[in-house]
Amino acid sequence: MSEQHVPFRQFIVKVHGRCNLACSYCYLYEGPDDTWRGRPAAASPEVLDRTADRIAEHARAHGLTALSLILHGGEPLLAGADTLGRFTTLVRDRVPGGCTVRAVVQTNATLLTEKRLATLARHRVGVGISLDGGLPAHNARRVDHAGRPSWPAAARGARMLADRFPQTYAGILAVVDVTQDPVRTYESLLALRPPALDLLLPHGNWSAPPPHWDRTASVYGDWLCAVFDRWWQAGRRETRVRLFEECVALLLGLPANSETLGPAPFDAVVVETDGSIEQVDALKSAYQGAAHTGLDVFRHDFDEALRHPGVAARQAGTASLADRCRSCPLLQVCGAGHYAHRYRTGHGFRNPSVYCADLQRFIRHAATRLAEAGSGAVPAATNAATVPASPRGGAP
Ligand code: SF4
Repeated sequence: MSEQHVPFRQFIVKVHGRCNLACSYCYLYEGPDDTWRGRPAAASPEVLDRTADRIAEHARAHGLTALSLILHGGEPLLAGADTLGRFTTLVRDRVPGGCTVRAVVQTNATLLTEKRLATLARHRVGVGISLDGGLPAHNARRVDHAGRPSWPAAARGARMLADRFPQTYAGILAVVDVTQDPVRTYESLLALRPPALDLLLPHGNWSAPPPHWDRTASVYGDWLCAVFDRWWQAGRRETRVRLFEECVALLLGLPANSETLGPAPFDAVVVETDGSIEQVDALKSAYQGAAHTGLDVFRHDFDEALRHPGVAARQAGTASLADRCRSCPLLQVCGAGHYAHRYRTGHGFRNPSVYCADLQRFIRHAATRLAEAGSGAVPAATNAATVPASPRGGAP
C-alpha cells in the first residue's frame, strides 16, 4: 500500500437495507440514487460472515488497535437484535487480540423494546438513535409508510434507553431543521439525556441545495451559533456535542476525526446487504451510483477499496480541494466541509462546500467564544476570529 492510504477504521455494515419509516427528507430512499431497490432487504449470513473475515483481515494487515463497527440500514433492528449481536461477536472473535471493536447500532428508535435492548447490551452493542428533536413537531417529517407519525414509538424507545440501559446509550444524531427554534430544539434533545449529540447538516450540494438554503445568508450557520452559545455556557456538563467539540479542537490546533470539519483523511467504508463495498451513503445525495466502487467482500479486500479513486480522493489531503479552499484562512478547521456537500453537476467534488458561508459564520463564532474565554491557543489554528471573510455563498 502507498503511504498515502490511511486504513479504514469505521466499518458501516448495512445489516438491513429497508426502513420501517419513510421520512420525507430521506436522501437514501427519496434521493437521486435508487440502487437500494436492486439489493436484498437483509444481509445474508454468508455476507455477514465474509464481512467479518474482511474486517479482521484489514485489522490484521494494518495492525489496528481499535475500530468502529456501525450497524446500519435502513433500519438495522429489522434484522433482529440477535443477528446484530451475533455479527458483532463474530467480528470481535476474528480481529486480532489487542484490537478493540466498538460496536454501535444506529436506529430510528421506534423498534426499541426492553428485550431487544437487553440483547444489545449483552453483546456490548451501543445504541445511537436518530431524531430531529425532542418534541413531536421536530419529528413531523419522520413518518411511517402510511404517513403516521413515528414520534410516539421513537420517544418511548428513547426514554426506555435512557432510563433502563444508560450504559448502552451512545447518543443522538439529529439533522438540523432551520425552521425550528435552535435552542428549543437543543433543550428538547437534552431532555432525552443523550451522553453525546451530533448535529448534522442536511445533505445538499450546489446543484441540489439544502432546504431553506440562501446564497445571500447563512441560515444554517446562524442556527448552529445559537446552539453553540447555549452549549458553550454549560459545556460538557450537559452533553457532548461532537460538531462543537471537533470545531474547538481544530481551532486549538488539535486533531479531530470528523467527516464534517477538518482536514483528516476519511476512513469509513460501507458494506451493503449484498456484500458490495461502497463509499459512504452521503454521496448518494449527489447522483445515482456516486457511492459505487464495483468491489465486494467476496472478491475484494478492503485494501482494494482504499485504492479506489473516489476513496483516494478523500485521502489526498488538500491536493484534491478547490483553489478557493486551499487558500482559505479557515481551511485547517473547515477542511472544505463534508465531501458530499461540495458536489456540482459537471464539476464534480472539487468545489467549496455549499455550506461555505455557514461554515465560515460558525467557525468564526466559535473562535470568538474561545478567544473570549481567554485561550491563547486560538491563533494556533487559523486566527479565525480575526481573519477577513473569504468570498461567501456564490457558486464555485
Ligand atoms: S470556509 Fe469555504 S472556502 Fe474556506 S475551506 Fe471551508 S468551504 Fe472552503
